Amino acid sequence: MSAREWIGKDFYRELGVSPDASQEEIKRAYRKLARDYHPDANPGDAKAEQKFKAISEAYGVLSDPKKRREYDEARALFGSGGQGGFGFPGGGAGGFDFGDLFNAARGSGLGGLGDMLGNLFNRRSSATATSARRGADVETEIRIDFVEAVRGATVPLRLSSPAKCGTCGGTGARPGTQPRTCPTCGGAGLVNRSQGAFAFSEPCRDCRGRGAIIDSPCPECAGEGVSTRTRTLTVRIPPGVDNEQRIRLAGQGEPGRGGAPAGDLYVKVFVTPHPVFGRSGNNLTITVPVHFSELALGTTLSVPTLDGKVSVKVPPGTNSGRVLRVRGKGITKRNGQTGDLLVTLQVAVPSSLNGKAKEALQAYADAVAQHDPRPEITRLLQERA
Ligand SMILES: [Zn+2]
Ligand SMILES: [Zn+2]
Repeated sequence: MSAREWIGKDFYRELGVSPDASQEEIKRAYRKLARDYHPDANPGDAKAEQKFKAISEAYGVLSDPKKRREYDEARALFGSGGQGGFGFPGGGAGGFDFGDLFNAARGSGLGGLGDMLGNLFNRRSSATATSARRGADVETEIRIDFVEAVRGATVPLRLSSPAKCGTCGGTGARPGTQPRTCPTCGGAGLVNRSQGAFAFSEPCRDCRGRGAIIDSPCPECAGEGVSTRTRTLTVRIPPGVDNEQRIRLAGQGEPGRGGAPAGDLYVKVFVTPHPVFGRSGNNLTITVPVHFSELALGTTLSVPTLDGKVSVKVPPGTNSGRVLRVRGKGITKRNGQTGDLLVTLQVAVPSSLNGKAKEALQAYADAVAQHDPRPEITRLLQERA
């Protein structure tokens, strides 16, 4: 998406947020709108699709702090979007490139308005060509289960995003027709104007700064040259991916313009928790219920891992809550690093006892009656008294 299309659009209003909204608020607003207006949720609804396109475009600018700053500067200089300082009806595309303009302005110190108009004027002859521009980055989300996250997975992803219109090939003109060069500005998109001592150029009103006039707009994209398309791609999730980790797929974002490379696609991965295993960094965690007698007398436990079982030796006299480490049975990352399995032992107290067990336990209780299981607490409290 090009900075030249920013003029005349109110991205904040599009997303329903205030101009001082935080990046987080912008993201939340976009997510909600994107869900409501997603083409998958509104099949055949052209209005919803237009809205989806508009909010995607707004988010594309406002979610990128650098682009957002340039957009804010543009609004500050030329009025707050809408029917802003350029005075052409209905907003729409501007005739020059804000990105270039601001770069030029920054290049000359902070640049005054005079500098800017000067740059604008000098730029006139080159403003007509569609400049090459890298495509915008796109962000989406997927949900995978715990084991997929540990092992890695290949996940199909359906993606709706603005793309070069397939019907007109991006020209905006009905197939079989061509945009014609604007006779008013000769294709420059800018016209010269004198006011008092100043001569400056402004976007051509007849072609709304495009340099071309579309007599018969493409029915698919209404002359915009961009339409929402649904693609399916396959995302390879690397093993060991963490919850909320972002994966970058280079070149899978919005297509570039004028031969420039496409943007990137960022996939945020949400991992559904496992009913048995947990995760702590590269370590796999599990809590294993044991009998008191197993801890007191020692035992060998058979503990599940993500592939098969392992034997874990519990030494006699082990306390409840102790964590035993099984090396190398954790999560293996793509870089080859492998974590451990952390086994937390937790005494399971039976909710009822049968006659024989109850008898034995009562005998045990009698046998240890003289032994205080809380000697540390008793001692520490006595010391303080
Ligand atoms: Zn089209
Ligand atoms: Zn024109």
